[in-house]
Amino acid sequence: MSINKTKIIATLGPATSSKETLLKLVNAGVNVFRINFSHSNHDDAEALIKIIRDLNNEHGLNIALLADLQGPKLRIGEVEEGAILEPGDVLKFTNKDQLGNAKQVFMTYSQFAADVTVGERILIDDGKILLEILSTNGIDEVEATVIQGGPLKSKKGVNLPNTKISLPCLTPKDLADLQVAIKHEVEWIGLSFVRSAADVAELKAIIKEHNAPCQVISKIEKPEAVVEIDRIIEETAAIMVARGDLGVEVPMQSVPLIQKMIVDKCHKKGRPVVIATQMMESMIENMTPTRAEVNDVANSVLDGADAVMLSGETSVGKHPVEVIKAMSKIISYVEESGQVSTKHENPPTHRDERFITDSICYNASKIADQIGAKAILTMTFSGYTGFKISSHRPRTNIVVFTANRSILNTVSLVWGVRGYFYDKMESTDNTFAEIKQIVKDRGIVKSGDLIVKIASMPIEAQGTTNMLKISQID
Ligand code: PGA
Ligand code: MN
Repeated sequence: MSINKTKIIATLGPATSSKETLLKLVNAGVNVFRINFSHSNHDDAEALIKIIRDLNNEHGLNIALLADLQGPKLRIGEVEEGAILEPGDVLKFTNKDQLGNAKQVFMTYSQFAADVTVGERILIDDGKILLEILSTNGIDEVEATVIQGGPLKSKKGVNLPNTKISLPCLTPKDLADLQVAIKHEVEWIGLSFVRSAADVAELKAIIKEHNAPCQVISKIEKPEAVVEIDRIIEETAAIMVARGDLGVEVPMQSVPLIQKMIVDKCHKKGRPVVIATQMMESMIENMTPTRAEVNDVANSVLDGADAVMLSGETSVGKHPVEVIKAMSKIISYVEESGQVSTKHENPPTHRDERFITDSICYNASKIADQIGAKAILTMTFSGYTGFKISSHRPRTNIVVFTANRSILNTVSLVWGVRGYFYDKMESTDNTFAEIKQIVKDRGIVKSGDLIVKIASMPIEAQGTTNMLKISQID
């Protein structure tokens, strides 16, 4: 199994629904599977969740699940075959459900006519078609002039980069899908089209009401979210640079710098960051990626991504296993170069309630690099120290010992972190001896290697991490 530090998230779909295929993907390097509620119904989602939980139990794996909520994604309705839009044509959007053509199309969003104003842009099908609004009746009809034409296809997504959409971040469909995610305690929940920290807080409140261990990933794919990025990072457990919609909503040439800016900010705050969409797009059809795709994956690893994500490549692609193998190879080659690090030294400076823990995590990372330690071992229930050490990007393995089964899977998304179940907290000496033996037995370290351990003393109290110890493996 792959021991890359940069993790791989694979989206599930028709190409990846059998247990046998999923195990092959895991063996090729997948750490997290994404269920995309834009395309998955509840029965399919539950069947997939069961397969992955079974794989974890049968093979001693910690594969995490990411349930991705569709959010306020706008779509057109069904369109007859062969409808083509030419520049200069006028297309009417209506809220009446009907089969569309090149003159008139059903718009599923009921507030569309009320939200838009003349002159704003409409993008359809990932920006392949571009229109400008000519008129709106403010109720149920909008007319728009085609600027860039092309085939108009059924159910394609619609982006309105200049429009303030009055839909809530969690639609009725999202709230129903969320119940499935909460019921099965998936580790991560993706929130699409986040516009503000308040959107995230709303989702977190629902999760908390249900006492579920799910953590939120904010998908950055709206210009408003880029503006609000600091507050969104502060509010969320992890961030996704959702380049698919982002590249339609903001000028696509600005996406690479936004990616780097978000990665840096996430490192500073100790939040995992995922780079998503079109990473190996050509492998939906082909056996090998393009050179540009290889560069994109490599550069995302170099930027400091915690995880890289595949969408169509694994959900509907022809070669899902080969995609993971190719991606794993790129990641391990780049990581072995020793050039993956964080741009900034981030020693904790504020004497807040986490100051002692944060200082231990920072210095554990520095000491581990300085002495060439083979692993940093941490005991945690919340996973906090694992996230925090990871954000300093030490060169060594980060091994999290936890009695929290959910956290064991959760950390599978986090750069360089591996989780092991451990629930005996009798005495510091005992615990340290045992966890040392575990990493030795698992082949992470061998005799003579140095390791760094951090913990809270006394260990039974399970309080603030306040101790750092260096030792040698016997
Ligand atoms: P999606 O999100 O696949 O759910 O649209 C990712 C993206 O927009 O890049
Ligand atoms: Mn998206």
